[in-house]
Parts: sequence; C-alpha cells; structure tokens
Amino acid sequence: MEMTRLEQMWRLFGMPGLLMAGALLGMLLVSALPELFAASLRDLASVPLLGGLAWGTVWWILNAWKLYCWEAGTWEGSCIFCGGHMHSADGVSLCLACSTRREAQPLA
Ligand SMILES: [Zn+2]
Repeated sequence: MEMTRLEQMWRLFGMPGLLMAGALLGMLLVSALPELFAASLRDLASVPLLGGLAWGTVWWILNAWKLYCWEAGTWEGSCIFCGGHMHSADGVSLCLACSTRREAQPLA
C-alpha cells in the first residue's frame, strides 16, 4: 500500500515534532510551578528537557535534509519514510516495504 503525502510527512516530522513540543510543554509546566518547588525541580528537569528539545531539533533538521536530498533525487540508500529496501529499475526507485516511488533524476 502506498503511503499518502500526509503519512510520509508524519513519518518524517511527527516524532521529532512531538519530542520538541513535549520538551517545550515540560519547560512551560516547570516554569509555571510555584517558586518553592520550582528552583530545585527546574534544575532537575532542565537537563532532560533541554536534551529532548535539542534532540528533537537535530532529528527534525536531519529529516528535513533527508527529504531535501530525496526530492532532489540525490538520496542514496534505504527509504527515508520507512527504512525499507529500495529497488531501482528503469530510472524509478520503488520501496519494497511501503511502495513509495521516486523518479531517479540525472545527477547534475
Ligand atoms: Zn518505504
């Protein structure tokens, strides 16, 4: 079954997006706590929260770059949407797992 465009975007940006949103929400929650708890809890939570935000951001950028290479036709390797094996024939690459097609473009 072929994935829709929306599914493809979700596969690429859903998880990093959720991770970034979750980390930001966590930061908001921690900063909204009463002063008394907040000082120690903020210190405790800031490392994983910042780590989560940084990770989400890097992951998002990485996937945006993958998509860019994919669209530009320069991506080599497994399917960027599901990690499946690509089969190339007659200038068309087809993912054997999710049936995503990609027209191979001549390298400039
Ligand atoms: Zn695939």
